[in-house]
Amino acid sequence: MTSVCVFLGSSTGSNPANAEATIALAHELVARDLTVVYGGGAVGLMGLLADTALEAGGRVVGMIPRNLFSREVAHQGLTELIETDGMHERKALMYDRSDAFIALPGGIGTLDELAESATWRQIGVHHKPVGVLNIDGYFTHLLAWLDRVVDDGLLSSENRAQIHEAETPGELLDLFLADDGGTAPKWDS
Ligand code: AMP
Repeated sequence: MTSVCVFLGSSTGSNPANAEATIALAHELVARDLTVVYGGGAVGLMGLLADTALEAGGRVVGMIPRNLFSREVAHQGLTELIETDGMHERKALMYDRSDAFIALPGGIGTLDELAESATWRQIGVHHKPVGVLNIDGYFTHLLAWLDRVVDDGLLSSENRAQIHEAETPGELLDLFLADDGGTAPKWDS
């Protein structure tokens, strides 16, 4: 594992625990010599992640769709900023350039990216670890919903187990290292 993609809010939000967790994750990634891959924004928790990792001497790669966000939104101080022709190309590149995916607290954009990276893992498009940092119980309801989906037979317990969860960055990255990249069968037959 040499690079980790982080999905997180383009807003800062109101809970200081989310900013603290963003800073802690940035430091942990840099301490482990992992390149940070993210959506390329200078705003919100996204900007905080990038600034913190860069200040700590880390490498940060951002992918941002050309013409979709205003110029001020793109972070101009990254190790590498890649402009793409749209959201789909951007996502494909984020997935290609990363060895694992972490969701920190965020909004609909974060949920979309988490859901897509987990979907792609369960159908074997990639074999990379996916997980959430459950800061201050932020993802507890989502994780409980996933358990309900398993109970109702719409998600296998093996695929559910591929969505890792932890409360600290170090714990989550250790779970990733133990992930064998396997793909459980999505369908019974
Ligand atoms: P949200 O959670 O709705 O704030 O959206 C955050 C996620 O969507 C990030 O992980 C980004 O990849 C993408 N995204 C949303 N807004 C922006 C933005 N202004 N600049 C760059 N990426 C964004």
